[in-house]
Amino acid sequence: MTQEKIVAIADSVTVGELAETLNLPVTTLVGELFKNGIAATINQRLDFETASIVVEELGLEVKLEKKESAAQARQAHQLSDKAVPRPPIVAVMGHVDHGKTSLLDAILDKKTVDDEAGGITQHISAYQAERNGRMITLLDTPGHEAFAALRQHGAVLTDVVIIVVAADDGVKPQTVEAIRFARTANAKIVVAINKMDKETANPQLVKTQLASEHGLNPEEWGGDTVMVEVSAKTGQGVDKLLDMVLLVADMEDLRADEDVSAEGLVIEARMETGRGAVVGLLVEHGQLKPGHYIVAGRTYGRIRTLQNFRLEAIKQAGPSTPVVVTGFKEPPQFGDSFVLAKNEKEARQMATEARIEREKLAATTNVTGADILKMMSQQHDAEEFNVVVKADVQGSLTSVVDSLKLIETNGEVNLHIIGTGVGNISEKDIHLATGKNTVIYGFNVDLPPAVKRLATREKVEVRIYQIIYELLDDAKNSMELLLAPEVVETEVGELEVKGVFRTLREEVIAGGKVLSGKVMADVLARVKRKGELLGEVEVTSVQRQQQEAKEVFEGEMCGLSLKTTKKLNLEEGDRLEFFTRELVKKTL
Ligand code: GDP
Repeated sequence: MTQEKIVAIADSVTVGELAETLNLPVTTLVGELFKNGIAATINQRLDFETASIVVEELGLEVKLEKKESAAQARQAHQLSDKAVPRPPIVAVMGHVDHGKTSLLDAILDKKTVDDEAGGITQHISAYQAERNGRMITLLDTPGHEAFAALRQHGAVLTDVVIIVVAADDGVKPQTVEAIRFARTANAKIVVAINKMDKETANPQLVKTQLASEHGLNPEEWGGDTVMVEVSAKTGQGVDKLLDMVLLVADMEDLRADEDVSAEGLVIEARMETGRGAVVGLLVEHGQLKPGHYIVAGRTYGRIRTLQNFRLEAIKQAGPSTPVVVTGFKEPPQFGDSFVLAKNEKEARQMATEARIEREKLAATTNVTGADILKMMSQQHDAEEFNVVVKADVQGSLTSVVDSLKLIETNGEVNLHIIGTGVGNISEKDIHLATGKNTVIYGFNVDLPPAVKRLATREKVEVRIYQIIYELLDDAKNSMELLLAPEVVETEVGELEVKGVFRTLREEVIAGGKVLSGKVMADVLARVKRKGELLGEVEVTSVQRQQQEAKEVFEGEMCGLSLKTTKKLNLEEGDRLEFFTRELVKKTL
């Protein structure tokens, strides 16, 4: 029995590193990623989830284990004995229109903030609420993508995620995404079942969906997920929700050091006329004060003004406090960590070092998907076709060698002449040709039986020709066989999803109208929502009027069975772009 190999990778891993871990050629891994709709190059970073999917698909006996990122480890180590309890950091997430903003408003009575800012709705991405004398830091999630970026920086940002689900609408795709986010971020989940004031509210259905499909079992059913029924409109249940958030957070023993140099994260940054870079920060440790020299990513500055989330000037800000500062030379990037420096010189130096580091990184990452084919071929640069040439007389040897040298190559495969000579093939030639991709060409010469036996034993290819063009054709064909095949995609048609009938882990049954071209079984499809690529699926069968159909054309309605590699939450209105993908043998 093979023993399961367990490999720990960090939050993300480069394609090259993963290939090495898996003991696979990089091209194989790139090809596998490509099949999954991910165009990646050797230096590109894959997140943990993508890496896991690919490893699973390759059927390898490898179990990836999440390794704490450096930042996580650093944070964990840094806590001293003097660390004090800190407010929990809570993100509010959920499907669009389920009431995230309304709930935040209800919690914060945010209107006062807007009024104080003189009627201008300031965008602030974090707030603090007070409940029974205790503080709760709330993050207004700036889109799930930005959140993922924060996570990539290794930030242990959210302690608790409040997942808002409308009681009259139930679990939706972004609800599922929020659950997944909370889990990968290792945050505790509290479910807020919102819109309870509505007549159509059906909290039981929400609980059933969460329990049966997403493993979130309500406490009242003996599970361990806290679910609170609320109404952002009437305020019902909001206090209870905050109590529950504090209770869940208490089980985590959240602490921070106050007696250290301040550090934390950039949660927003923009330029404002008259104020320069206006930067939202979340303090994680220490006390941040005006006058401090601060470095975040590749920029630095001296804190000129320090405000709380209500935009009131404050003298200092401790752990879990969101603040707005000015004084940075340029806006840092969302997700950058910040630290303090002793003086301007040190701050500048640290920022410069970070800039150099980042430029180095930029040089190795962010290669676009379009480069993939080039990348695949570059991987084959190393391919060499080695030949030993023997001919009857010096004159023909020279012409064969010269002609071989003239075979045009595109840089993906090179021809090397490793030996030449006049006379029959000898044992010495065989010994010379035992390497990989090596052939002995004989022109008008013999292969004596003893040498032939040696060649067979050593698995050396000997090819004898009397006509020079045949010899050259053979060499060219042999070189073409060493070229990586080219991936060619051909567009077939497009369809708009009109209904989704069944969603399983690896299969989705849906119906729709063919907008252009046609659809048939065995084609692939890119799934797009508002132009954004959600994934790639395979069409396993096509039906027209409940009958299996060979092809369905533009203007017609049809049903489709789609094979998916990961769960796909297809929705009405999504587009499917059908195409075929073939590996085409390249020629020189
Ligand atoms: P978000 O997209 O999740 O931020 O949702 P919003 O907070 O913008 O709310 C979407 C819509 O639902 C708005 O029209 C709100 O007025 C409404 N809404 C939010 N919460 C409640 C609630 O508890 N009860 C009712 N009846 N409507 C709500």
